[in-house]
Amino acid sequence: MKGVYFDGSKAVYREDLPTPEPENDHSRIRVLYANVCSTDKEILKGYRPQFHGVMGHEFVGVVDKTDRPELLGKTVVGELNEGCGSCLYCRSGREKHCPDRKVIGLDSLDGCFAEYFVEADHLVHIVPDGLPPEQAVYTEPLAAALEIPVQVHMDPRKNVAIIGDGRLAFMIAQVLHLTGAHLTVIGKHREKLDAFMSFAEKTRLVGEFSDPSNAGQTENVYAENAALAHDPDRTYEVVIEATGSPDGIKLAQKIVRRQGTIVLKSTYAGMTEIDMSIFVVNEITLVGSRCGPFEPALRLLQKGLIRFPEVEWHELCDFQAAFSSKAFKAGFHICDQ
Ligand SMILES: [Zn+2]
Ligand SMILES: [Zn+2]
Repeated sequence: MKGVYFDGSKAVYREDLPTPEPENDHSRIRVLYANVCSTDKEILKGYRPQFHGVMGHEFVGVVDKTDRPELLGKTVVGELNEGCGSCLYCRSGREKHCPDRKVIGLDSLDGCFAEYFVEADHLVHIVPDGLPPEQAVYTEPLAAALEIPVQVHMDPRKNVAIIGDGRLAFMIAQVLHLTGAHLTVIGKHREKLDAFMSFAEKTRLVGEFSDPSNAGQTENVYAENAALAHDPDRTYEVVIEATGSPDGIKLAQKIVRRQGTIVLKSTYAGMTEIDMSIFVVNEITLVGSRCGPFEPALRLLQKGLIRFPEVEWHELCDFQAAFSSKAFKAGFHICDQ
């Protein structure tokens, strides 16, 4: 079968991959659409050097081989993390934190950038009637956005800032907009920020938060935070970092209010250096946030409460074009329904 395979250092398109056979409690999925995620691009930069296998984790497909009659022939989406089933985390409903978990397209399991792949039955979710597969393919990143209200009490009276103007920020902004919160989206690109206008109260450029008198000085986050402390218009109770780069946390530190919360959504290869004392002195809550619940994401999509732009579709053999695309979302149209 055809697929995009990561060999430990680079991605290669192959047509000689074996079609997988599902084992116990697993189903085989014929992939209709699969989207490229920035995590896939991070793999190419060295985020998961130990991984060898078919890439990809955002998909919609049809179950074509399974022991479960209720799944056969159904259009499905699926979660990424397959736990061991027996450890403390798996037994307490926290499978995605299993220390021995395998992750499709990222760790020990082949992913969905192929005609077929295999997934554990309990991770599969049936796409509800009336939701087209081209929108259902957004379930996984939307679920990741929904993890924020799972973790943090989103008081709709509080003001919230999202740092980032990319896809992840777009998902989060749509979700938080539904809470009625006063929402500001902060980004680097005016043209990208314009896409947020219909659900953010305000959009601002990163430059609006830099102090011109400090230009060229060494950055002191603590002093910059203090300088903004009397400015209710440029400080926020909850700051969500969704830039996909290490710069975001520095801006978050600067604009978060005392006793506020910073939610970290970006994963990237590499390290960042930050001044930790501000978290102590200002009593900031720091929340790491990753994968989220699929069923609420499917309900929001089915009800049309959340809408995403059309994906730019590519063939698997053109994976490089898909990976380097500047479209809102690029993906692969792999099999016809
Ligand atoms: Zn993803
Ligand atoms: Zn486990």
